[in-house]
Amino acid sequence: MIGELTRACVHCGFCLPTCPTYVLWSEEMDSPRGRIQLMEKTAQGTLPLNATVVEHFDRCLGCLACVTSCPSGVRYDLLIEETRTRIEHGHSRSRAGRLQRRLLFETLPYPRRLRFALRLARVGRGLPSTAWMRPLLEAAPGWRSREQPAAVTPCADPTRAPRRVGLLTGCVQSVVFGEVNAATARVLASAGYEVVAPPQGCCGALSAHAGRAAEATRFAERLGRSFAGLDTIVVNAAGCGSHLKERELPAVDLTEALHGAELPTLHPLELTVAYQDSCHLRHAQKLPAAWKPLLERIPGLRVVEPAEQDLCCGSAGIYNVVQADAARDLGDRKAARIQETGPDAYASANPGCLVQVAQALGRAGSPLPSLHPVELLDASLRAVAAERVLSQARR
Ligand code: SF4
Ligand code: SF4
Repeated sequence: MIGELTRACVHCGFCLPTCPTYVLWSEEMDSPRGRIQLMEKTAQGTLPLNATVVEHFDRCLGCLACVTSCPSGVRYDLLIEETRTRIEHGHSRSRAGRLQRRLLFETLPYPRRLRFALRLARVGRGLPSTAWMRPLLEAAPGWRSREQPAAVTPCADPTRAPRRVGLLTGCVQSVVFGEVNAATARVLASAGYEVVAPPQGCCGALSAHAGRAAEATRFAERLGRSFAGLDTIVVNAAGCGSHLKERELPAVDLTEALHGAELPTLHPLELTVAYQDSCHLRHAQKLPAAWKPLLERIPGLRVVEPAEQDLCCGSAGIYNVVQADAARDLGDRKAARIQETGPDAYASANPGCLVQVAQALGRAGSPLPSLHPVELLDASLRAVAAERVLSQARR
């Protein structure tokens, strides 16, 4: 399959300026075009899949900005997923690399283990640690969920005939951003939905994007069974949404579920919010700036878009751990673009981006409140004062 897909690349280079790693280092082999050549040669067997080559693939964020910018329609998304699966099966990583990935995939998809690991990380950050452990400790967010959605949230208007939908609560999302899920259920209920949040596990997105194809399929199939009987799964985490759509589960992004929805009165929120698209909403799901029109319905709220919307913040699944230096550079760059807009708060619709950018804003000495856009919509519907929204938001 790789050979067929790589032949579509005409080497024009239009993708280069949109690739975060090429922007960082100006290295051809760290550009989409260079990586496609490496994929072709390793698939043909004219180049071994050795540590040097694998490093160029590992440095790819899987942000898919190159898919958006490619005029020839090269399916880099399929190429990198297939390549990562080949690496998982055909390349032996260093001991530190193996340990790091093992720990990530033994904890992140499992909420109970993740909760425990986050508690340990808070303690571990102050203690001496190995070089491979340090990025894990630093990437761990200090927040925990204060709230969770109900198993069933009825439609807020009893005179409406509600449409029943499922809500993906996620693995990391449910542990760190439970209040985002609760806000999502309330907003959907206000928009005329009955929202069901059944017991569920990881959707498999993190595994799929790391080349763990069999595990990703197992998780996605199990998730499909959790939502049996529901014809729509609403997703508020962009990376999970694009993964479920690829697997042909009946997933819709929250913005699609709310598009054109009749909402009750929205109360003013006098705030300037820097809204950053997550790559999986912008490039994978092809929903650029999808939150903007929804946020602009809130009276008094001003949405500003930072420069370099196309450029990934460096979160990218497990990237901020396994490529910590590059992730930090991209995070700091994103924080600078956000600061330039002079906002009161930062908003993005993906848990990884919220963690990554909040940490970068903290390093820059500007710990802005970091919110999922649905939290703003929810606050406006419930007439929560702007000051309270800011004081309760994570930083
Ligand atoms: S997915 Fe992102 S990081 Fe990877 S080659 Fe494409 S633009 Fe570059
Ligand atoms: S991936 Fe697309 S944009 Fe990039 S060099 Fe190939 S054809 Fe050109």
